[in-house]
Amino acid sequence: DPRRLAAALVVACERAGVELRRDRADRLLVEHDRAVGAVLADGRGVRAAWTVLAGGSRSGLLGGLPADVLPPVRPVKGQVLRLAVPPLYAPFLSRTVRAVVRGSQVYLVPRADGELVVGATSEELGFDTTVTAGGVYELLRDAHELVPGITELPLTETRAGLRPGSPDNAPLLGPSALPGLLLATGHYRNGVLLTPVTGDAIASALATGVLPEEIRPFTPDRFLPAAPVSQEQLV
Ligand SMILES: Cc1cc2nc3c(=O)[nH]c(=O)nc-3n(C[C@H](O)[C@H](O)[C@H](O)COP(=O)(O)OP(=O)(O)OC[C@H]3O[C@@H](n4cnc5c(N)ncnc54)[C@H](O)[C@@H]3O)c2cc1C
Repeated sequence: DPRRLAAALVVACERAGVELRRDRADRLLVEHDRAVGAVLADGRGVRAAWTVLAGGSRSGLLGGLPADVLPPVRPVKGQVLRLAVPPLYAPFLSRTVRAVVRGSQVYLVPRADGELVVGATSEELGFDTTVTAGGVYELLRDAHELVPGITELPLTETRAGLRPGSPDNAPLLGPSALPGLLLATGHYRNGVLLTPVTGDAIASALATGVLPEEIRPFTPDRFLPAAPVSQEQLV
């Protein structure tokens, strides 16, 4: 449950002594070709030996990022519905149901508190987060095909979020081309699932200066333009 996970992580950070500044980062602070922190929307600077850019689908929008450091991340819209399971219908589903209906992936996730989540559309529409009649219709239509009883349940929430997609839809983890700046973004459809491994790997890289083996295939340099091949190399 991403909402409970995020809330629990904030509490865990506070208990561990992490200082949280809830503000928008306006731009990256760069001095002598090294990232040294960020300037917040209110103009205050936060200086740091290392900066981790983890802005989800907005990671490429941070001001002050040199062109060769801009993460190639795009927003992929996903609409999702929440239904309530009244006591009369409980227990409704005992496990997650996943399927491909008419070529679209649909899943129904029962939560411990009785909520049923139906997701998700996948739309390449930039930063649009409008919930549309068509999106809700398609989700209900496809979910109904799998579990007809859902149309009896109260519809409690409709929402659209943005997944951070990368060119190969795998995450961007590790050092950028700018010294002092690490990336932890581009998790696309799996950012909740990949929270622990991302957190552990980035924390380990920051603490030891060594990139853990398991994230080496995901370093951002895989998207750097290949150096031109010379005539000698071709021969
Ligand atoms: C409908 C839907 C269903 C999904 N289902 C699943 C699933 O079943 N399993 C799964 O593993 N993943 C799922 N995902 C994907 C998952 O939500 C993402 O991969 C994950 O949220 C990415 O985490 P993140 O922390 O990198 O980015 P985000 O969750 O987008 O968080 C980035 C944060 O950075 C903040 N930020 C951005 N720019 C700035 C700035 N300049 N200053 C300050 N803060 C800033 C944003 O406000 C945001 O809080 C789903 C996504 C959607 C939309």
